[in-house]
Amino acid sequence: MNLIVQKYGGTSVATPELIKRAALRIVSLKKKGYDVAVVISAMGDTTDRLLNLATKITDRPSGRELDMLLSSGERVAMALLSMAINSMGFPAISFTGSQSGIVTDTVHTKARIKAVRPYRVQEELKKGKIVVVAGFQGVSPEHEVTTLGRGGSDTTAVALAYALGAEQCEILTDVDGVYTADPRIVPRARKLDAISYDEMLELASSGAKVLHTRSVELAKQYKVLLHVRSSFNENPGTIVKEEEKQMEEILVRGIAYDDSEAKVTIREVPDRPGVAARIFGSLAQANINVDMIIQNVSDSGTTDMSFTVPESELLQALGCIEKLRTEMEFKDVVADNDIAKVSIVGLGMRSHSGVAARMFQALAEKGINIEMISTSEIKISCVVRRPEVEEAVKALHKAFELE
Ligand code: ASP
Ligand code: MG
Repeated sequence: MNLIVQKYGGTSVATPELIKRAALRIVSLKKKGYDVAVVISAMGDTTDRLLNLATKITDRPSGRELDMLLSSGERVAMALLSMAINSMGFPAISFTGSQSGIVTDTVHTKARIKAVRPYRVQEELKKGKIVVVAGFQGVSPEHEVTTLGRGGSDTTAVALAYALGAEQCEILTDVDGVYTADPRIVPRARKLDAISYDEMLELASSGAKVLHTRSVELAKQYKVLLHVRSSFNENPGTIVKEEEKQMEEILVRGIAYDDSEAKVTIREVPDRPGVAARIFGSLAQANINVDMIIQNVSDSGTTDMSFTVPESELLQALGCIEKLRTEMEFKDVVADNDIAKVSIVGLGMRSHSGVAARMFQALAEKGINIEMISTSEIKISCVVRRPEVEEAVKALHKAFELE
């Protein structure tokens, strides 16, 4: 029988009424003859509230205990949803990440899925039950509970869809799909009917919050068809799939922005082999996610080096750099968290020239200064002052005729 994995985000299950509504939708899919496995997020802003609780106890909670705490949010939601489905006369059963065989590495609070062994899920599906799986969590080889990073339920859903051989993975959320830009900033942004995995990956990693980046990586790797759509209506959403020929005809598919990063500049670093390796090696060892990196030309044997990291990892990053001070003999290190990154993404860039110039021109016309630039085959990103980023998004949306 055909199987569909549905994932419900936090806003779609924020209240008992919404949980019952989700249950109705799940049951109607089951009635159409599908086997259904559901991945669920914590209710509403539960994860934020749990994190906030932890900060009331200590500003340095251990990763292990944070994971014990945060994983409880999805556990509450899965049990309630399973009860709701059961009470509608359809047998359901809920499982934690661990019970569902979601095996991860040992990196607490941002673990990566290493294997999915969904034996119990398969057994219950075979009995005709609807299976509800807690998103965002897994179990390490040391039998510890882990979580996958904020927004990680999407990744659980894709991994499970692949492991179960689902024909589709539906991501049910509070927006109608993937847009050309954040509609809260650009009211004339359009919903996309389809987007390639690569474009979605670049948008997600550039700050578009509609999908967890890792979930898109997995979907691409295992060719899992994603359907991002609203849980509040039946409208078709956005299909994320393999690239097709005519997708190249669009120069820029969408604009994304990210205001959650901070910039670190190390001034007057000695310009000799091994310095970058040492700096970024030490950040990597601390599991800090470095995004953009620029290094200036060297002047009198030293150079300035800037890079961006998630704001939440800034203090840790500065700590790592500080430890290298005597060894590296750099002058000083400056942190700046009033920055934001704006990116344009599109497969069409591969075969067209002048795209970067057009982007810089649009920003220049608004008097927006560019501080860092990075490019990939299908993406161009610029770091600007944070208060200017919304205007940058609007200007680019217009310049690339996405209205
Ligand atoms: N509940 C987690 C979060 O808020 C995971 C998720 O919703 O995907 O980040
Ligand atoms: Mg999410």
